[in-house]
Amino acid sequence: KLQPACAVYVADGMVVKTTTDQVNKYQKGVLEFLLINHPLDCPICDKGGECPLQDQTYQYGPGASRYQFDKAHFDKAVPLSDKIVLDRERCILCWRCTRFSEEISGERELALIQRGVHTIIGTFNDEPAQSNYQGNWTEICPVGALTSRQYRFISRPWDLDRTPSVCPGCSMGCNIQIDARSNKIGRFQSRENVAVDDSWLCDYGRFSFPNFQRQSQERPRIRRDGRLEEVTYDEAIAFTVDGLKRAGGQAAGWASPADTNEELILFRRLFRDVLRSPHLDHRSAVLVDAEPDDMTLPIADIERCDHVVVLGGQDVIDAAPVLHLRLFKSQRKGVNVQKIGASEVAEAVASVRPDCTAVGILATEANKTAAVELQTKLQRKIKGSVRRLLVTTGPNGRGAKDLGILPHLGPGYAALNGQAGTGRTEWPGAGLRALYIHESSPLHGFIASDAESMWLPTLPLLVFHRFKPSPLDEMAHVVLPGHAFTEKGGTVTNMEGRVQRIARGLDADWVLEDWRVFQEIANGLGASWTYDSVADITADLVRSLPPYAALNRGERVLWSEPA
Ligand code: SF4
Ligand code: SF4
Repeated sequence: KLQPACAVYVADGMVVKTTTDQVNKYQKGVLEFLLINHPLDCPICDKGGECPLQDQTYQYGPGASRYQFDKAHFDKAVPLSDKIVLDRERCILCWRCTRFSEEISGERELALIQRGVHTIIGTFNDEPAQSNYQGNWTEICPVGALTSRQYRFISRPWDLDRTPSVCPGCSMGCNIQIDARSNKIGRFQSRENVAVDDSWLCDYGRFSFPNFQRQSQERPRIRRDGRLEEVTYDEAIAFTVDGLKRAGGQAAGWASPADTNEELILFRRLFRDVLRSPHLDHRSAVLVDAEPDDMTLPIADIERCDHVVVLGGQDVIDAAPVLHLRLFKSQRKGVNVQKIGASEVAEAVASVRPDCTAVGILATEANKTAAVELQTKLQRKIKGSVRRLLVTTGPNGRGAKDLGILPHLGPGYAALNGQAGTGRTEWPGAGLRALYIHESSPLHGFIASDAESMWLPTLPLLVFHRFKPSPLDEMAHVVLPGHAFTEKGGTVTNMEGRVQRIARGLDADWVLEDWRVFQEIANGLGASWTYDSVADITADLVRSLPPYAALNRGERVLWSEPA
């Protein structure tokens, strides 16, 4: 008797036959049934060209339908939310979306409604879907029933240029594919990395791509007689070199936690080695010192713990939304997941059983003190391991710490032995004479505080090297167009220390690569750097910081062991 492959467990000694005459006949029959009410929308369906139903019909299905009656009709283009549209006629009732909603995100937002041929997919009372993981429905739907409103009628799949990269949304480091057509991003799709994202994305990251679409071809500008004037890169760089030379050790540098490691290593050398300035930062707030112990719990190990304390509750999930899916999966496997306020350390200690063998703590950087206190107390209480994972800010906040974009720590968290500088929050009162801001993502830019808004216009030199126009342009003496996160190659390090490559998904050839700008400024100040490519800098990074050789093995950076 034939067995459905999706409902039978593999067993020792089992022989599976998929190409016998009997199997072929049944496969054809199943597909003929699926197509009875499926509309012939392929030429206008967003899924056409990457549709599993199309592919399976082509490979296993009948060449023609014998069905001669009217197809059943349902509502088309039903908005399920501001992100997703549902075409009920195309739905083949496979239950993938409802199972995701129940078994992967645990939100139970989608359900099967009505019975028999009238069965439809919908939300409770037709209310707009609220989930932060809806974009995944469009990827798992095997037909064009659930589609993205942003991507609707944007491109046929075969017209897309696909570039493997990493989501710029947060420090989780979910793997994505940038799908662009005619140099315009159409969508971010997931790219499986079981150790990080289990192939899921959150909606915040997935639908963030319009932030990275360039609106115009800008040129560098410098301020003369109070007005910004367009100049060449050479002129803007020469102007910057003059200003930085005058500021010397009183120049400060802020690099975005969305910069690549290759940019960060050059930025640090420009300030520490060339300008001899210790005033470096990538943060926006005062935080407790970073250290390698902040990432001893790998993301994938969350599901191998007995008990996981999410210290700060929803704040932790909001900072890295795909963590919720990992935590829900862990819960289904029997892990005790405890979401608790950051001030409730005593309650968390009391609720962990003494016989636990592995306990994990998740917290944001802002709650590091409480996380360390909890870890110390639990280490006294249980015999097993207690590890923590702090959610850093930005897709490369961890890399910025690893590489020493901090006023008081060098690369590899090395102490600066009396050479420490001031951090960003101290700069307005620190008597500085220049500030260089480098940012490559509007999601993690330099947002001036009230104190900074008063201070920035008083600086003799403000260099703003960035991807998109911002209000800071009006205060800058030099505006240098730079590449966006999606326009450059290099590496970034996620919150658990995994170094991953990003690649250029869009062209912006008129923009001088950001690392070349750093090199030309450094050389204008007397250095003699000779990098020819990003790969050169990556190789130098691995040489100077051996734990980063993990990059070549696709592993996490381990600071306590030799690489
Ligand atoms: S995943 Fe698509 S085809 Fe399957 S039940 Fe949901 S809407 Fe229908
Ligand atoms: S969790 Fe972070 S990295 Fe992952 S998809 Fe969301 S925003 Fe992007």
